[in-house]
Amino acid sequence: MTKHIFVTGGVASSLGKGLTAASLGRLLKQRGLRVVIQKLDPYINVDPGTMNPFEHGEVFVTDDGGETDLDLGHYERFIDENLTRDSNATTGSIYSTVIASERHGEFLGKTVQVIPHITDEIQRRIRMLTGDDVDVLITEVGGTVGDIEILPFLEAIRQFRLDVGGTNVCYVHVTLVPFIAPSGEHKTKPTQHSVTELRSAGIQPDAIVCRSDEPISDDLERKISRLSNVPFAGVVNCPDAGSLYEIPLVVHDEGLDQFVCDTLHLITDPPDLDGWRALNERLAEATTPVRIGLIGKYVSLVDAYLSVVESLNHAGIHHGAAVEIDWIQAEDVEGLLGENRLRDLDGIVIPGGFGERGVEGKIAAAGFAREHDIPCLGLCLGLQCMTIEYARNVLGLERAHSSEFDPSSPHPVIDLMESQRDVSDKGGTMRLGAYVAQLRPGSQVAQIYGTDVVSERHRHRYEFNPRYRARFEDTDFACTGESPDGRLVEFIELEGHPFWVATQAHPEFKSRPDRPAPLFRAFIGAALERAGGRNPQLIPAEAEAEAAG
Ligand code: GLN
Repeated sequence: MTKHIFVTGGVASSLGKGLTAASLGRLLKQRGLRVVIQKLDPYINVDPGTMNPFEHGEVFVTDDGGETDLDLGHYERFIDENLTRDSNATTGSIYSTVIASERHGEFLGKTVQVIPHITDEIQRRIRMLTGDDVDVLITEVGGTVGDIEILPFLEAIRQFRLDVGGTNVCYVHVTLVPFIAPSGEHKTKPTQHSVTELRSAGIQPDAIVCRSDEPISDDLERKISRLSNVPFAGVVNCPDAGSLYEIPLVVHDEGLDQFVCDTLHLITDPPDLDGWRALNERLAEATTPVRIGLIGKYVSLVDAYLSVVESLNHAGIHHGAAVEIDWIQAEDVEGLLGENRLRDLDGIVIPGGFGERGVEGKIAAAGFAREHDIPCLGLCLGLQCMTIEYARNVLGLERAHSSEFDPSSPHPVIDLMESQRDVSDKGGTMRLGAYVAQLRPGSQVAQIYGTDVVSERHRHRYEFNPRYRARFEDTDFACTGESPDGRLVEFIELEGHPFWVATQAHPEFKSRPDRPAPLFRAFIGAALERAGGRNPQLIPAEAEAEAAG
């Protein structure tokens, strides 16, 4: 039978509840348990697909095409399992299901209410992920205890223990223990209030994870234990870590996984953490600096590109490199072309995005990278911008564009496919989730992947326009990956350039800390070569003299 861990959060948002859940998941997996993780989100959007990345961060895409909360990315990267769309349920999707049932007359004339109908549906979403092949389901409840929206979720998980039995459920509450500078102390009061709030919903936490900036003392943990009625062993301190990937080790040293296993009567060997420790050692040794420009639209919220950043870091760990990201606002690129900021980069990433703002800057960056032999990796919209740049500046196709941004372009080198044109519901036309691509044997991308057939996740509407493909391919521009039927271009590369490679997919969603996505790995490899090729010791006069021969 599947055991349940429910992770709630108190005091403040952004405490790293998702990372705590993901870390615990990894520790349990390393104990030989089969783990699935789920996120319940209290907002009313049916899924985060239409939410502004400025507000909500990246939309994470699963293999089966679910548009989900970015915490699912943490889960996948930590537990190294592919999750499905069912691992994310929002208030909106739960109400939609209940209301649809009501319209079908399934409630037989009864008044439909939050309790029991909404709470039952929440429980059904939880049970959906259990089964003989799942030892532990970790369910993170989004939001913060005390929010109005969270109440049905707390009620549902409270009832859950009653239904499945005390030793099959463990409640973990993540709180903040802030340091108050004027008094020079860490304060337990917010945790006390948060636990009281949780108890008023009928849930007594089994374990408390105390987030703090610096480690807190045993005395303080003892105090928290007493005031929250949690055994001392269940009070776990998780101070800020140098890297995300240290968190499993930190909470393991504090005994979290052992305590949870004891609570759930799970008897296992201690976790095998050799691989994870080795990963952290490699991370600590990854110090060769490599400077990557990320040309984004949403650069003021780093979380908007979370999986891209993590993929760059994974590739850095692989190469022993510390990736420094220069966040470049796409609209600023054209003003920067004459300056050293772009020239000094070791690599440029043009990530995905929607909407016209900043597109000309991304196109300019693609051109700059092409002309100056700077490694350039294009992801989804990145591929589209690189294609447009090449069309305009090499093929001479004036005003070439994507019909997403210029519907009257004489050369829509990026366009909707015929089959997508008549669908009025925009969401309905998106290509979402995993699609297989056939790579050209011997091409740069086939060598990078080490195979000719790959599967990557997608989230886009527009495609490389096949009407122009021959014109591109008459030059050094090669479409080296395509859909199995040959209709859709999936990968492009440029002969004679160290690395000017792009994909219509989002390989960042499949990168893992110990298994970087191949394109990112190769991209950072190329960037390191450029970094090594530029001699940072040369003072400008010497460089000029050298250039003059
Ligand atoms: N806006 C582009 C499209 O819809 C690219 C989307 C993306 O980068 N995810 O095709």
